Order: sequence, then structure tokens, then C-alpha cells
Amino acid sequence: MRKGRIIAICVAAALALLAWFAADIPFYTFEEPLSRASLTSVMDGEALSFTYENDAITLHGAENATVYGLTLSGVAEIPNGQADGFPSDSLGALAAVKPAYQADTDEDDVAEAVIDAAKTDMEYTQEYHATTSAFLDSRLPFEATLSERHVFTFTLNGSPLANAQIDATLADGRTVSLTTDASGASDALSINDIRGGVQFTYRPDNATTYRLNYCVEDNTVFSLRWLSAMMPFTLIILIALVCIILDVTLRKRLYQKNGLPESRVKITHKGEGFRLPRFGFEMIRWMVMLLSFVLLIWGGKLLGSALFNVELPILACPYNLDQLTSAGCYWFSHIDVLLGLPIGEILWFVGSFVVCAVLFGRMLCGFVCPLGFIQDVMHQLRQALHVEGVPLNERIYAMLRLIKWCLLLLFLGIGLIGGSFCDFCPAITLSPALAGFKTSIYFSGFMMVAVLVSGFFKRRCFCNICPMGYLLGLPHKVSLARLKKDAVACTECGACYEACPMGIKSIFTIREGKDERAIDVTTADCIFCGECIRRCPEDGALYMTLAGKRIYTASRMQFMRDYMNREKERSK
Ligand code: SF4
Ligand code: SF4
Ligand code: SF4
Repeated sequence: MRKGRIIAICVAAALALLAWFAADIPFYTFEEPLSRASLTSVMDGEALSFTYENDAITLHGAENATVYGLTLSGVAEIPNGQADGFPSDSLGALAAVKPAYQADTDEDDVAEAVIDAAKTDMEYTQEYHATTSAFLDSRLPFEATLSERHVFTFTLNGSPLANAQIDATLADGRTVSLTTDASGASDALSINDIRGGVQFTYRPDNATTYRLNYCVEDNTVFSLRWLSAMMPFTLIILIALVCIILDVTLRKRLYQKNGLPESRVKITHKGEGFRLPRFGFEMIRWMVMLLSFVLLIWGGKLLGSALFNVELPILACPYNLDQLTSAGCYWFSHIDVLLGLPIGEILWFVGSFVVCAVLFGRMLCGFVCPLGFIQDVMHQLRQALHVEGVPLNERIYAMLRLIKWCLLLLFLGIGLIGGSFCDFCPAITLSPALAGFKTSIYFSGFMMVAVLVSGFFKRRCFCNICPMGYLLGLPHKVSLARLKKDAVACTECGACYEACPMGIKSIFTIREGKDERAIDVTTADCIFCGECIRRCPEDGALYMTLAGKRIYTASRMQFMRDYMNREKERSK
């Protein structure tokens, strides 16, 4: 036994090492934002402003304007306001300033000195936390800098503009009055408000007006940029489809060769087929999954940034800056970065993980994780197409456990040796792309193909090897969600084990406990999908509780209804 474990650990370590080398295999890479971006100045008589679409930055109303770029070595002038390739040390922020001129912009019939400027910030699209890109230079006298996507800091000649009144005119014509605090910051506007551009106006006195047009790139769904960001994921779907078709064709051939009956040779089967989730637990689970999927991809855009500091421990993705909450997976897979944070932030992360894991545990897998949802969708697709699934035996489950240990090793350890788990994580291919963020994909592209194909043939296959799922399952002994069994009602038919996507045999085999009518069969692997309960033919033999309250119970009546529907489908 001990020898077997040592061999397993050695194999896991070797596989993890192999995977470390595989990290750099590119699947679909975008050029660095600075090399793919271009800047063109146009003299179209419009107000001095930038527009920024699909890496093409255009400066409008460029007459007499001087264009500056922020570089590592300071503020640099961009000759003629044109740049097809930015300097290698460019930080991605651009500004244009016109010489002061006299005009009456406040309509008090007295002309004042007007200083027009424009600014755009490319870094917003690429960084985990939108970095501050402040020029802090008197050549851009009035400046606004976006940080953390919901705080603007205003400076005048490089110094914070404390307790100042600034008007912001939004793309829809609304004007919002901002008051800065002692550090020149205001959180009255978030990135959601300024996607179409914003003009800030500051009048320190009756004789001077500063105007600044600020813009970041918009990533609206179906925009050119969104379509381009979706390229890797589209490729992944196509490859997954080819793999699925190949598998079905090859299996058909194999079955024919082995002389299996005609019904098996067809690969398709008249089984359950597509069916709407049953009203109650199942319906609620699908609705929560769908809602979570939407919120964890576009939630920040839809509902604002109030929950950005909540770190959900699931495989969402921090490269998507539009999700409603943050993704705690980043800190587990970058322990080196986590350890460098102030102790308060480390405690906040660890505390919120423990609270989530104890309160909900792997219910987050069954109800919230976007990667779990996409696997369930693949499963439904297979059912709808009547394609036969691939059942796994115990030996394969044991192999999956080995792979899970490898991934766990990588997940927690790779950051400490200078690597990044994000190069392997399938979530990075899904969430940022759907939100319109162009993210280069390495080995994780192949992982996502495997997630889709395996999820098609075997429900939640990836969840069997997911390291985050494993960590969420650790406190299962104290978590509020429980799966219970009434050993008196159970007839040991084994339907629950057959239905379980995580291959948990103990729900079927355990028959003894303190109270035989309520034996706790919760395990670290259970994702609380409720499939075992749905498939159990005995009234009350299996049930799920949350904080002691029953939320789902096996019912013979429901089982019979499902059974009749399946039979009806078969006889068509
Ligand atoms: S186990 Fe599945 S559902 Fe849970 S975090 Fe991992 S991918 Fe998501
Ligand atoms: S034990 Fe039941 S609820 Fe848990 S994963 Fe298996 S089928 Fe889902
Ligand atoms: S499906 Fe229900 S009756 Fe059958 S073994 Fe599982 S718990 Fe027992």
C-alpha cells in the first residue's frame, strides 16, 4: 500500500514537471497590446479627443495638439502624433494637449483661458487590477487617472486636486458633478459610466477652464474587439466539435468491427433525451447556474463594482475585469504574490475562503462555477443529440484522482517556482473572451478542449480533477450542506452511484451510522448536483439539507414520472 502511494506521488510529481514544461505551448496568442496598437491623428474639426476601437486609437481634432506617451523613463513626445509601433518601454497611456486659447465656455459673456486635453489608457484592458497611468507632468496640466475601475484621481500640474468641484459630461449628455477628497480622488463614476467617453471640466476661477476628454476601449458584446477576443474560444469549440464527431465515428466503426448489436452500433440511443429541468431543486439549480454564469462574466458591467473585493473560490477568471466578484483562484495559484500582500489582505482572502467553503462548500461547484455550468451544458447537448455517454469504471476514477493530485501540486506550487497556473487553467479561455478581453492562450487552450469533449461524454469530468474543487471540499465535515441517507428506505439498487457524475460509491455502499434514518454520506467530492436524489427510486432514501433544513428529497413518484418519460422516448 505504502509502495503504491510512493509510486503514485512520484508519477504525480513527474507529470506535474512535464506539465510545467508544457505551459509555454501556445494555443492562440495575441500580440502584446503595445505592439498591436496604432495611433492616427486626424484633423476633422472635432473636439480634441481619442477614440479607441480594436487596437486602433484615433486622435480627433488634432490641429496644434502635442501628443505625449507615458513610458518607463517618463513622459515622451510622440512626433507628428502618429505611432505605428509604440516604444518598447511605453506604458500604454497617451495624452494630447492644445495650447491655451480664449473662449467663453461657461456662457457668462466673458472669455476665459481654455486648456483642452485628451487622454486614453490602454492598460485598462490588460491588467488584473487596472493600473494607474498618471503622467503627473505640467505638460498635461489637468489630468484624470482611473484606478481600480471605480476611482478617478484628479491632479493639477502633477499635484492632487483636493476638495475640488469637477463636472463630468457623459456620452449620453448627462452631467455629473464630482467632489474630490483630500487626495484628489472621487468614486462617483465607475468604468461602466464612461465606456462611451467622458469630458471632465474644471474651473478653478472665472478666468480659466480646463477640459479633458478621457476614453478607454469599449468591449461591448459583438463589437469588433469582442469578436476578435472570441477567436481563441471559437477555435476551441471547433476543435472540440471535431473531436466529438471523430469519437462518435471511430466508436461506431469499433462497435461494427466487434459485431455489437445494431442498436449499439448506432452510438445514438433513445434514452433520456433533452428534457427541461424538473420544477423545484433542479430548476432552481439551473437558474442559479445561469444567473451566476452571466454575473461572473458580465456582472461588473451590469451591476457595477460594489462586489469587486469579494473573492469567490471557484474557477472563474481574474483576467475578466467585468465579472461581478473577483476570482479567489488567482491567490491560490499565485501564493508568492499572496504572501507579498499586507497581512490584512491575506487575512481577508483566507477568511472569505473559509467562510465560503464552510457555508456552501462544493455547492459552489454545483450551483455557481462557470466551468461547472459549461460542462453541464455539454452534458445536456449530448442528451439532446441522443449520443451515448462514456461510463467510467473505478480504475479510471483512480486515474483521475492521480491527475487531480498533479493539478493540485501545480495549482499551489507553480507560483513558488516562478510559473503560473493560469497557463493551464481552462477558465482563462472562457470568461475573459466572453467579456471581450483579448487574452493569449497557452496550454489552457488544449485543457479547455479536453474539458468540453470530456464533459460531453462524461458529465462534469473535469470536476473530478479540479484542484479548486478539491480545496472547496476540504471542510466538508463541517460545511452547512449535507447529503443524507435513510438506510431503512434504501433498497441498495445502486441507481444513485450510477447517476453520480463524481463517481462517489459511498452514497450507495454506506449503510451504517449513528442514526440509520439519517446517515451522513457527504464526501469531499460531492458537488451537490442532486443527480443521485433525482435517480433514487425510494421515497426519502436520499436527501439533501442546508443548515439542517431539507432542500431536496428522493421521491418515488418523481422517479416513476422520469421513468415513464424515458420509456416513452425509447418507444418513439
Ligand atoms: S470542481 Fe468544477 S465546478 Fe468546482 S471549481 Fe472546479 S471546475 Fe468549477
Ligand atoms: S453524491 Fe449526489 S449530489 Fe453529490 S455529486 Fe454525486 S450525484 Fe451529485
Ligand atoms: S438509489 Fe436510493 S435506493 Fe438505490 S441505492 Fe441509492 S439511496 Fe439506495
